[in-house]
Amino acid sequence: HLSKRLNKVADYVQAGARLADIGSDHAYLPVYLVKEGKIDFAIAGEVVDGPYQSAVQEVAREGVEDQVFPRFGDGLEVVTEADQIDTLTICGMGGKLITEILDRGLTKARFPKPPQLILQANVYEAGLRRYLLSHHYDIVAETIVAEAGKFYEIMLAQYRDQVSDWSEQELQFGRYIAQNQPDVFKAKWQSVRQRHQMVLAGLDQAQTQAAKTKHKEFSRLIAEIDQVL
Ligand code: SAM
Repeated sequence: HLSKRLNKVADYVQAGARLADIGSDHAYLPVYLVKEGKIDFAIAGEVVDGPYQSAVQEVAREGVEDQVFPRFGDGLEVVTEADQIDTLTICGMGGKLITEILDRGLTKARFPKPPQLILQANVYEAGLRRYLLSHHYDIVAETIVAEAGKFYEIMLAQYRDQVSDWSEQELQFGRYIAQNQPDVFKAKWQSVRQRHQMVLAGLDQAQTQAAKTKHKEFSRLIAEIDQVL
């Protein structure tokens, strides 16, 4: 009963990976991967007690206590070198929080070999892309899924001595998404455009300087969207 979104994340995990799923909540993703026989070692990290208890219960219910290990702690603190983690999944949170978790925790001591990253940010995708590319992580694949009226972008990043060069437009909209899932891509940006248009309509009569600045900003965002659609 994995969501369409987490199914896409699961697709990016390589068979035999040693996984840490950070912010795992019910641990649905690692439990699914183990039950599918795709992996046999995962850490499910949680920093909040309720979700951590949910992970512990789910792991017990599914009988995967020898493969999935719920651990309580902040971000990558739950990982040690001995775990030999080669893949991280961080999904369902803001892109800013994801960059903070990576920035604080992605140390050489914990990860002698830089792990693959599979990330799904709910907001701030552009900032996340920028962060990855400026920290030796090349984004090698991306996908977008629509589920229950929402759009989710998922990216796979790998450590490289040299990363590719992304334009501002690619940082904002992605590089591979428009090519591979053109319908979902269009639907997402049409929906964002519509939201921006509503903000703009609300500002039409506005006279204050702040409102004028906002008007300019949203006009620019709409123009950017029109360039890619
Ligand atoms: N990853 C799952 C998914 O994509 O469906 C659950 C997403 S849930 C919305 C986000 C989870 O991240 C919450 O359970 C929250 O407690 C956890 N979280 C937030 N900040 C965290 C941190 N610094 N370290 C570990 N977990 C964190």
